[in-house]
Amino acid sequence: PIRPREELDAVDSVCPYCGVGCALTYYVDRSRGAIAFAEGRDQPGSKSRLCVKGRYGWDYAASPQRLTVPLIRKESSYPKGPLSADVRGDEDNDRGRAGAGGNRSGGGRSAKLSKNGKDRRRKPGGLVDYDEVLPHFREATWEEALDLVARRLREIHAEQGAGAIAGFGSAKCSNEEAYLFQKLIRAGFGTNNVDHCTRLCHASSVAALFEGVGSGAVSTTYGDVANAEVVIITGSNPTANHPVASSFFKQARRRGTKIIYVDPRASTVAEHADYYCQVKPGTDVAFYNAVMHEVIRLGLIDREFIKARVSNFEELVRTVNDYPPERAAQITGVDADLIRTVARVWGEAKAGVIYWGMGISQHTTGTDNARCLIALCSITGNVGRPGTGLHPLRGQNNVQGASDAGLIPMFLPDYQGVDREAARRRFEEAWGAELDPNRGLTVTEIIGSVLKPGGVRGMYMLGENPFLSDPNINKVRKALSQLDFLVVQDIFLTETAEFADVILPASSYLEKEGSYTNTDRRVQLGRKVMDPPGQARVDWEIIQDIAQRIGLEWSYSSPSEVFDEMVALMPSYANLRHANLGLTGKLYPNEDPEHSDGTVVLFDERFNTDDGLAHLVPAHWLPAKELPDAEYPLVLNTGRLLEHWHTGSMTRRSFALDAISPIAEVYMHPKDAADRGLSHGQMARVRSRRGAITLQVRVSHREQLGNCFIPFHFREAAANLLTIDEIDPYGKIPEFKFCAIQVEALSVE
Ligand code: SF4
Repeated sequence: PIRPREELDAVDSVCPYCGVGCALTYYVDRSRGAIAFAEGRDQPGSKSRLCVKGRYGWDYAASPQRLTVPLIRKESSYPKGPLSADVRGDEDNDRGRAGAGGNRSGGGRSAKLSKNGKDRRRKPGGLVDYDEVLPHFREATWEEALDLVARRLREIHAEQGAGAIAGFGSAKCSNEEAYLFQKLIRAGFGTNNVDHCTRLCHASSVAALFEGVGSGAVSTTYGDVANAEVVIITGSNPTANHPVASSFFKQARRRGTKIIYVDPRASTVAEHADYYCQVKPGTDVAFYNAVMHEVIRLGLIDREFIKARVSNFEELVRTVNDYPPERAAQITGVDADLIRTVARVWGEAKAGVIYWGMGISQHTTGTDNARCLIALCSITGNVGRPGTGLHPLRGQNNVQGASDAGLIPMFLPDYQGVDREAARRRFEEAWGAELDPNRGLTVTEIIGSVLKPGGVRGMYMLGENPFLSDPNINKVRKALSQLDFLVVQDIFLTETAEFADVILPASSYLEKEGSYTNTDRRVQLGRKVMDPPGQARVDWEIIQDIAQRIGLEWSYSSPSEVFDEMVALMPSYANLRHANLGLTGKLYPNEDPEHSDGTVVLFDERFNTDDGLAHLVPAHWLPAKELPDAEYPLVLNTGRLLEHWHTGSMTRRSFALDAISPIAEVYMHPKDAADRGLSHGQMARVRSRRGAITLQVRVSHREQLGNCFIPFHFREAAANLLTIDEIDPYGKIPEFKFCAIQVEALSVE
């Protein structure tokens, strides 16, 4: 029976999914030990709104598939490898093709299909087959498992040096957990080989922002859209990826804010836009250079702002001079007159913000793309005032906070460079350990390093699932199976855990306290709703137990104690305490959190660079690394769906979300589908130079001719089997938004 609200226990917390970080309340039925429902709570950035994930996506924590006891791989189960049949690449397996057999191109496997083209063998949820994988492990006590983890990592460190150890943290973890994890890797193993999924998300945006304005965080909030005369939303589908932020955009437009939408996919935002520019994938630099060309030609620049606060303007002028709208039209596919109109609308507006997503960042030219956006805002004086600014819409709930807390290989907490002696000294003194002055390897570099002599041999994986989330997963598979030792700390048996030597059962977001920083720089508290199941433990305690076993003298008693140590070393977070975050959190920087919500608009007087100026870095357009050709004539774009989250380990175990969106599909333009004899709902084989997958066709007018979209949540049709592992040279982010593919009909019995 559903109990009345008065009999339920209300726990105020924050949504664990996207970077919007909506405030919510879980109503818990203690008699059943279960959440009855969730409701939005008032907070400046969410105003009691929730999307489908926040409202219904919490029952994964009660899944019977939760890991509840430490597991150690049996001696007989070496060599390691993907254990479930559907990712092993068995000859008789036609789904997913995430194994060696997936490299074979073309060819129908009609025996696996029913007459209506549906795959009869698809298991609900498409998750790791526990019955197949668990026999390779034995249950262990926490003591035994932790002792083994500490011993093996120490042995590898002693025998092969600090560079042989690496750690992947997670943007799903709290600030405190991220801080402790990077401290463990840095202070305990003497290496900066520590990174997390920001590398797959906005690393290129952060690289460009650091170089340009001296800070990787947003310069204003998404709520500030209300003060803007015009906004550019680019490389983003906020309706699916930041739904509540998207509602702020749509509301602002109803009140008069103009929306310029620039994206290869005609998502629903295009229907709310005043101007929609459907650029060809990978042509953003040419488009924005042309917009700047026009803004300058029309004299719509802010000369005073440029003179007082910007450097390198002349070089920018020389570069964009090569991009008259007619030339850009040929590259981007956007009509030259529309480019001129957009430039005029942006240039004439008194206040404008640019919001961008991974369509900008996930390219080998991701840093150049973001450089152009920074330059466009800077030359028109659109930074430092209400309704102006730069806002990379951060993906995961705590990707901003995890980066702030130092979970990146080139920066100590608060972006203090590992190569800056004064900063390093400060941390060495605080942590009582000698730190490595060299930047460490990134996520993508670590995977490559495992495959090289003298590379990484031992890894600690906290809440990440690179087997599905990293590009070119056949390469990831090789790397994970060649590690000497892998410990995975997670809540489910993920695809990556199939390669582990030790699996540590961790806590879900609902089972612990901690702070999380959203895309706006809002630091909020997540509160404990229930206990972890079985012997599962909270993550910060597990990290501390390993730290103690390798000789670090840690004795934290609570997340708030960790937070106090962390903020003392992070000037941006100064003055914040768990006790003063309240129910709605606080923005950083914040002079007086007891009385103020924090600073919305940054850079009102100076940028965060050493000389206080915005540094423009002009860029010429470069094509993507793998262009379509006769064999692979289509372009693949990958991304998220509204109902699902990353590698699906949470949302595919959430009843409502999986029921709404249960299957993987390839989204295709009607003509591309018709040219291949494909119709809506039919099964197709999609292949690239790296592998092939089988999935259902979704015919959609929102796709551009010649381009396809595949969400990356589905292991049985793993999109990253197809993607290319070329990376941006500055941000080291992979090109998830562009590789060449072919789509073919499967013959049916
Ligand atoms: Fe959660 Fe993001 Fe949806 Fe808000 S918009 S409810 S934070 S997934």
